[in-house]
Amino acid sequence: MDKLITKKKLPSLVDTHCHLDIERYFPDFEVTLDRSRIAGVTDLVIAGVDRDGWQRIVELSRRYVGVHAAPGMHPMYLENHRPGDLETLAQLVQTENVVALGEVGLDYHIDNADRSAQQKLFEAQIDLAAASHLPLLLHVRKAHDQVLATLRRKRFAEGGIVHAFNGSHQQALQFVNLGFVIGICGTITYDRARKIRRVAAELPLESLVLETDAPDIPPASHWREWNSPEYLPEILEALATIRSENVFDIAGQTTINARRVLGLG
Ligand SMILES: [Zn+2]
Repeated sequence: MDKLITKKKLPSLVDTHCHLDIERYFPDFEVTLDRSRIAGVTDLVIAGVDRDGWQRIVELSRRYVGVHAAPGMHPMYLENHRPGDLETLAQLVQTENVVALGEVGLDYHIDNADRSAQQKLFEAQIDLAAASHLPLLLHVRKAHDQVLATLRRKRFAEGGIVHAFNGSHQQALQFVNLGFVIGICGTITYDRARKIRRVAAELPLESLVLETDAPDIPPASHWREWNSPEYLPEILEALATIRSENVFDIAGQTTINARRVLGLG
């Protein structure tokens, strides 16, 4: 008698934040992309750092199905940004298929942060995202309240993702109220990350998306290696364990959330 073996397939996953464009870490883009697809990651968003990376990001998004571009000016690398970059970015988002501006925000964690320069850069990119009807990939460290206040003052309505979220439950809910979702990364695979694990456990599933931030923030099982989008299922499994929920439900809902906020078809 024939045996019918039915293996339930995981819904496709979206890595909402990675840096797969950086050739130093990913010398063979296609190999990493193939491995990620085999692991179930059908879509990934490449976040920008500075102008030098934008062209490659948009080229990769043009060439490969499921690869999406989010160019922007990172608040940690102020010294890389030059006058005129904002105009270049504005042109790029008009002519290319860009899904978000990223990564942008405020980082008060770095030494000698030039807060007023960061603020200026952030606000200029909020204005550009608003004018272009694009969501934001937010980079926020030790400045959640300031970012929230800025988004409110600007009445920013396009939403986006708070990447590698590391704030409090209350702050997460405020972002959600402004139309953002919360990016859950490999940090939750570490037992010691109690605070963020609790936040990830308690927020409504409709407000969460998954990300690797590869090559940064490797999950616990790869802590000595560079991270890769192919490890995204490990973050999914950790989230399912923390929430005592089904892996399939979390995969399905986080993918719906990512597609909604990024406007992916
Ligand atoms: Zn990043």
